Amino acid sequence: MSVDGLFLGTDRGDAKYRAAMERAIDAVLDAVADREEPYSGAAPDALVESFDDSVIPEEGCGLETTLDEVTERVLAHSVDPSNPRCGAHLQCPPMVPGLAAEALLSATNQSLDSFDQAPAATVLEERVVDALCSLFDLPREADGVFTSGGTQSNFQALLLARDRYCAHQFDRDVQNEGLPPEADSLRILCSAEAHFTAKQAAHHLGLGEDAVVTVPTNGDRRMDPEALEATLAALRERGAAPFALVGTAGTTDFGSIDPLDALADSAAEHGLWFHVDAAYGGALAVSDKYGDLLKGLERADSVAVDFHKLFYQPISCGALLLRDGAAFQWMARNAAYLNPEDHDDRGVPNLVSKSVQTTRRFDALKPYIAFRTLGQSGMATLVERTLRLADKTAKLLESADDFELLGDPTLNAIVFRYRPCEGITDEEASRLNAAVRRELLEDGRAIVARTEVDGATSLKLTLLNPTTTLEDVGAILEIVRDCGTAIGGAQEVVA
Ligand SMILES: *Cc1c(COP(=O)(O)O)cnc(C)c1O
Repeated sequence: MSVDGLFLGTDRGDAKYRAAMERAIDAVLDAVADREEPYSGAAPDALVESFDDSVIPEEGCGLETTLDEVTERVLAHSVDPSNPRCGAHLQCPPMVPGLAAEALLSATNQSLDSFDQAPAATVLEERVVDALCSLFDLPREADGVFTSGGTQSNFQALLLARDRYCAHQFDRDVQNEGLPPEADSLRILCSAEAHFTAKQAAHHLGLGEDAVVTVPTNGDRRMDPEALEATLAALRERGAAPFALVGTAGTTDFGSIDPLDALADSAAEHGLWFHVDAAYGGALAVSDKYGDLLKGLERADSVAVDFHKLFYQPISCGALLLRDGAAFQWMARNAAYLNPEDHDDRGVPNLVSKSVQTTRRFDALKPYIAFRTLGQSGMATLVERTLRLADKTAKLLESADDFELLGDPTLNAIVFRYRPCEGITDEEASRLNAAVRRELLEDGRAIVARTEVDGATSLKLTLLNPTTTLEDVGAILEIVRDCGTAIGGAQEVVA
């Protein structure tokens, strides 16, 4: 086999690159974007059967054939987050400027671990981080790093919080010595609606999920500040060592935002690291109209924000911001080949010391190109549009006899139940909605999520797409009704 044409920088390679990219674009437009339904409805076993030939054949079959196969087998059975009737998860339609950025960053393949692998990219990531710190009103000493998303940002924030606490409280250098004998007493607080990654991080940090204490929420599904104080008092009484408080700006199901100012007060009083998980809601910072909902976030010790959600960038793209950039010291290390301690090139930034990753994508280019292209006001328009649509959707659900709205939306997630007749119990409604959701997945005309609310299965729309209209939402609800009828409606479930 010849290597000619496989790599950039050769005449044939450059031409092949152009042709392959054009073909890839056509495949996306034909197989996904121009399709009417957001999903084909293919069941898992049918998909398994479609991949029946060898993944690693002895001889390759060439790029054109392979791309055609992938178009037919993969793209045709992918969900299309750009379809207005795709409204399940925090899976955004990627904006065109972000797709262009993704093409640039993958082709140039800069790696953000060391300056010598990504000179301009390193400097630009730092510039974008600075701009984000100002956007969130963090002080001058603030700093940050791009991450794979909220999971990694939350993990890294809690790692830094734990290690700072152990150094100050137990005079323990966790990086070198491991957890202190007192580790069993360490506790993280978050609300009952917080993302599961708070618990996951506790596990990964060697503290165990039981180290996470959930504080009750009030009727709006926001952390109850009085319950937080009571929880902290009870923990102290038992000799526990709470070190971090996680506030959520945009819970996954309801989009609710914890009372961040009150949480910041408690964190300051009790000496806790205040982390705000703004993976979802952080985008409100671009909006003059809704930015106030984040009041108190500027007091956080760390902030997680995702660009692959309400900032409309292709996966993956997140950032962790720190109020005091010096806190990166708790994870800094020196590798002789990347950022040697006694290097001759002082002043050269090697971002490996700020990340839990080594080789790292130049994801910062995506929000950079998006912000430069649209400006803050353009980004705000997108976010505001979806929040208005969510309000109208809530009204639509409220006025329908066969739907039950479960709480007013704060952002653009709306939780509801299909309830076609009076008198069915919550348990029956739960079974009915689970069945409707299964039917929806096979139907493919609309993508709606399911979730549990107070133990009962419910449906959820996350209306991230700024091109979705109220008519589209009406069509989604009609499809939900169709699916309810197709499975025999409430009768079937109640019988
Ligand atoms: C999405 C989300 C996460 C997880 O982030 P990933 O980007 O999926 O890793 C964590 N917290 C909240 C509030 C989220 O919305």
